[in-house]
Amino acid sequence: MEAFASFKKEISSPKKIFITTHVKPDADALGSSLGLANYLIKKGHEVTVVTPTDYPSFLNWMKGNDQVIDFSVQKNIPKVKKKLKEADMVFCLDFSVLSRVNELGDMIRATKAYIVNIDHHQDPEDFANYRLWSTQAAATCELVYELIVMLGDKKLIDKDIAECLYAGIMTDTGGFRHPNTTKNVHQVVAELIEIGADNSQIANWIYDSNSVNRLKFIGFAISRRLVVREDLHLAYFVIGKKDLKKYESRTGDTEGLVNYALSLDGIKMAALFSEREDGVKISFRSTADVAVNKFAASYWNGGGHKNAAGGRSHLSLRATIQRFEDLVEENQKTLFHTRVLDENPN
Ligand code: 5GP
Ligand code: MN
Repeated sequence: MEAFASFKKEISSPKKIFITTHVKPDADALGSSLGLANYLIKKGHEVTVVTPTDYPSFLNWMKGNDQVIDFSVQKNIPKVKKKLKEADMVFCLDFSVLSRVNELGDMIRATKAYIVNIDHHQDPEDFANYRLWSTQAAATCELVYELIVMLGDKKLIDKDIAECLYAGIMTDTGGFRHPNTTKNVHQVVAELIEIGADNSQIANWIYDSNSVNRLKFIGFAISRRLVVREDLHLAYFVIGKKDLKKYESRTGDTEGLVNYALSLDGIKMAALFSEREDGVKISFRSTADVAVNKFAASYWNGGGHKNAAGGRSHLSLRATIQRFEDLVEENQKTLFHTRVLDENPN
């Protein structure tokens, strides 16, 4: 691993830069990628942003969105391969294990380019030349802001860049509500608002852009697909393929649903199981004293943060739920008494 000085030297002359982020990018993933891209373009670099999959349409307002290349679209594959081959530098944002970018992972592992990893998830893989990584950061967007400041370019952050970065910090703190909402978070977003980020407009674009189908889907899920196990301090949603089809679910439509389960009084752990073409996608959320990232990493091929993690299962939906309930019962002691085991608050 190289020091900041080596990175600073590397980026000090115009480069061909390839930026990527994790599958199904959220506001932090896309906001950090486009916030950084817009800054690097201002510095005279040639920048390409590639996402491994599509992302929700409520993020389409970000500057540079129309230039983003979706690697999961067949016709884009040759172009992405060419861009990666030509790249002098590769930035990996909001993930730190290469399995999070699907097939792009092996291609990045093989590249000769200078790799930069900016992230705030636990247990990073060692694949970068320079890593700006902190689990104390609430969002990758917070780290991108700090990187630009460290490079002495705070004055180059304009309204467009500020809005991309604000979006990621807003969503990764759950609207400034999660325990990761530190004093530094408020200081950074105050600066971003000062620069011109329209905080109320961004909240509106992201949180108030429901389709009728999505709202009806949420109502259906809460009334018909919510399981509450008060004895285990647990509540979870089970969403089948048919449910998603019936409500014409689009990318991003299940985002946030799991929080309704966690909002129940007395519930310490919540989950969302959603049946997809390639297996069951799982989201975990927990209250401050319960660590779900270790549970996700140990049993569900996943990971994440202490209070927000995810993973996957290749069993049937029914078998996944059975295994999940069994595991929660077996692991009750370690799951619900993690304060002493995990000193990191995020
Ligand atoms: P979400 O439930 O919103 O999809 O994800 C919550 C958190 O867990 C995010 O920080 C995300 O990066 C992480 N996460 C979700 N799925 C996976 C996964 O399959 N592997 C890993 N390592 N992290 C995941
Ligand atoms: Mn993030």
